Amino acid sequence: MAIMVDNYIVGSFFASLVGLVLLYFFRRNAMAETDKKSDHRRPGVDEIRNDCVRSSTNGEVRPGGGPETDVVIVGAGVAGAALAHTLGKDGRRVHVIERDLTEPDRIVGELLQPGGYLKLIELGLEDCVQEIDAQRVLGYALFKDGRNTRLSYPLENFHSDVAGRSFHNGRFIQRMREKAATLPNVRLEQGTVTSLLEENGTIKGVQYKNKVGQELRAYAPLTIVCDGCFSNLRRSLCNPKVDVPSCFVGLVLENCTLPFPNHGHVILADPSPILFYPISSSEVRCLVDVPGQKVPSIANGELAKYLKTMVAAIDKGNIRTMPNRSMPAAPYSTPGALLMGDAFNMRHPLTGGGMTVALSDIVVLRDLLKPLRNLHDAASLCIYLECFYTLRKPVASTINTLAGALYKVFCASPDQARKEMREACFDYLSLGGVCSTGPVALLSGLNPRPLSLVLHFFAVAIYGVGRLLLPFPSPKRLWIGARLILAEGVRQMFFPATVPAYYRAPSVQ
Ligand SMILES: Cc1cc2nc3c(=O)[nH]c(=O)nc-3n(C[C@H](O)[C@H](O)[C@H](O)COP(=O)(O)OP(=O)(O)OC[C@H]3O[C@@H](n4cnc5c(N)ncnc54)[C@H](O)[C@@H]3O)c2cc1C
Repeated sequence: MAIMVDNYIVGSFFASLVGLVLLYFFRRNAMAETDKKSDHRRPGVDEIRNDCVRSSTNGEVRPGGGPETDVVIVGAGVAGAALAHTLGKDGRRVHVIERDLTEPDRIVGELLQPGGYLKLIELGLEDCVQEIDAQRVLGYALFKDGRNTRLSYPLENFHSDVAGRSFHNGRFIQRMREKAATLPNVRLEQGTVTSLLEENGTIKGVQYKNKVGQELRAYAPLTIVCDGCFSNLRRSLCNPKVDVPSCFVGLVLENCTLPFPNHGHVILADPSPILFYPISSSEVRCLVDVPGQKVPSIANGELAKYLKTMVAAIDKGNIRTMPNRSMPAAPYSTPGALLMGDAFNMRHPLTGGGMTVALSDIVVLRDLLKPLRNLHDAASLCIYLECFYTLRKPVASTINTLAGALYKVFCASPDQARKEMREACFDYLSLGGVCSTGPVALLSGLNPRPLSLVLHFFAVAIYGVGRLLLPFPSPKRLWIGARLILAEGVRQMFFPATVPAYYRAPSVQ
């Protein structure tokens, strides 16, 4: 077995080299195409004046006298609250406008990967996972057809405190909001932003309704929109191509013990995966993936019935649902404004990468803006913001690509090539050593390097083909192997938009 594994790895390496060369040419062509298209699509100054952008000069007199604001942040969720504290700590005068300052109660953002925790430390926010009954997460356990395998995070080279953390999302957000609000130069206000204010193509601030319904305006040289996955404001700042491949149905299991304590549990079920992880010392979150954009109705009991028949889950308790959205980052470079968090970029939540990407983006932006003391220097600010989009890419695209690819591979399918790919992936991860730590380091954000992703991807594909062809390659097996690597592999991994997958829903929004 050891010799076989070594052969696969050596084979994978050479195949990866070939793959990389191919990929380089594919990507170059694809990017040239995209650039051409986005040049056509990019709206002019006048076109971005839609219903979420207004002119800021409708006879409006700007407030004078009061302290000026450097940055307006829309939304104080994971991204907005962390960003407010980060920029405030750097001496910026920050005005955060959040629709609802009470503790959120949601089924999202409950498992922070260790890579995200490292970012939290870099931002000085690690105490926000303390005193909320957060649980340490040390890796994943994967279950398939009665077999299981444990995938530990490669944490050996880190401080003993470094691990994943799982918690109630609302408690974590409240801790970050409170911490941001303790800074004298951060103003956290409850209000709903209704539009961005634009003047000669530059975003100058926002219009919002405060807690008592007054229409107000807030001005700043930089507006950062962090209004989450259902963002109403992003339309003028990016080209939102939102896909909803599935929904998560969330349940809480009380006082139940998971087979692997301090681990996320992923069941490769039919039709799609089910997740379990602790969110406090006495509660376990269960997320059941339901393919498609619609879940059976909760009101008429259809959902409870679905859970009982398809996943044998309990039929009492508070069932919640959320669409699983994915959206590539496709920003229009807009002077004076930036998108962050889910408003900017989303990926399937199977691998729990959203908060890690958001926190990583905040570190990139903080470091980038540090030398720029005067945000009123619009030309420089614009150049810095453009750099942000480039610098964030390696981490964000690695985590995003892996999330999409794993979701596809982990879904059950009657198609033989997809079945083989699912099996090969499970077995590859079960091999241990670099075959499990490599992919886990990628998805946990501990080593989110694109090259490592490409290498492991080809290693899995070649491992799958090797299993098919050994010891006797029949024509049928050769055909499945070719499909596995071409249709299920290269295309699906790197050009998902070209795959007519059964679960890909039409773009919404
Ligand atoms: C089902 C599901 C499970 C997930 N699980 C995980 C996980 O385990 N780990 C992980 O890392 N990621 C997970 N994610 C992704 C993660 O939740 C997001 O990446 C993260 O919450 C993004 O943070 P955000 O600040 O952009 O958005 P949010 O945290 O949603 O914050 C947006 C904020 O903006 C406010 N807002 C909205 N509109 C306005 C307005 N007009 N004016 C003022 N305020 C406004 C909202 O009230 C909210 O507070 C999951 C996602 C889903 C869908």
